[in-house]
Amino acid sequence: MIIDLHCHSVFSDGVLTPEALIDRAYQNGVTHLALTDHDQLGGLAEARAHASDLAIELIDGVEVSVEWQAKLDADPMSIHIVLLNIDPDCPSLQHGLAGIRAGRQQRGERIAADLAKVGIDNALAGALRFAAKPELISRSHFARYLVAAGYCRTIQQVFQRYLTPGKPGYVSHRWARIDEALSWCKDAGGVAVLAHPGRYNLSASGQKRLLETFISAGGQAIEVNSGSHTPAQMATFAQIAREYRLAASCGSDFHAPGESPVDLGKLPPLPNDLFAVWHLFSNRH
Ligand code: AMP
Ligand code: MN
Ligand code: MN
Ligand code: MN
Repeated sequence: MIIDLHCHSVFSDGVLTPEALIDRAYQNGVTHLALTDHDQLGGLAEARAHASDLAIELIDGVEVSVEWQAKLDADPMSIHIVLLNIDPDCPSLQHGLAGIRAGRQQRGERIAADLAKVGIDNALAGALRFAAKPELISRSHFARYLVAAGYCRTIQQVFQRYLTPGKPGYVSHRWARIDEALSWCKDAGGVAVLAHPGRYNLSASGQKRLLETFISAGGQAIEVNSGSHTPAQMATFAQIAREYRLAASCGSDFHAPGESPVDLGKLPPLPNDLFAVWHLFSNRH
């Protein structure tokens, strides 16, 4: 079994159609794949149809953007929660995600205005060239534009110089709250996974508060192996999974060939002693 529980298609900020993504997963030997577009369920039907042709087990998923304050006086930061094995027809989930997406276009305008202050003009039009629909506009699309227009050499360099807290092109945004995302997950019969915890730059106490908040809202799993984690971070979060008795997940977070550090299905397997998240999936299909 090769299991990959986190990736993106053109329905959010990936570059492959769901069908092309499934083809690539198949070529890489993936047996179980979760499509987890940002705040969006639109690619799941196409993915399911093609996965069944190739005998890949498709797990319906979504990566929900939430905001969270590490402390009462801290700026809200954005945290990602992957919901797995959800019912994509769940009305409260659909409604909640539509609410999150509605803010993206306006945020895009604010990002572009902030980039214009440092001499980067027309960034919104540039970024929109990379997005399938304006309501999907994300920082990844801005990042691809900044590389294409020669402002940076790589996507990683963009996120070091722009679009992140304290840097040009970062604007804070109201997403959902952790407890809202977790209540949609419950309604949709899914399992909530704290995505790429190594990416949040939290102090030890901040990380503890995030884990406690997530768990008390009903979160059951954490990404241990992630395309965003170094090998050392995979070991760290394996230990956190043991300490907090969280199930462990494994997802490449693949977005684009040649751009994502880890390809579909190419992460190392989870340590044997961890409780793997897929044991929590009820058999929906
Ligand atoms: P948004 O949902 O618009 O805030 O965009 C977030 C997306 O930007 C993430 O899902 C990643 O695809 C990408 N991203 C954020 N931070 C980084 C980073 N440090 N390196 C590479 N990609 C990043
Ligand atoms: Mn993304
Ligand atoms: Mn993410
Ligand atoms: Mn992702």
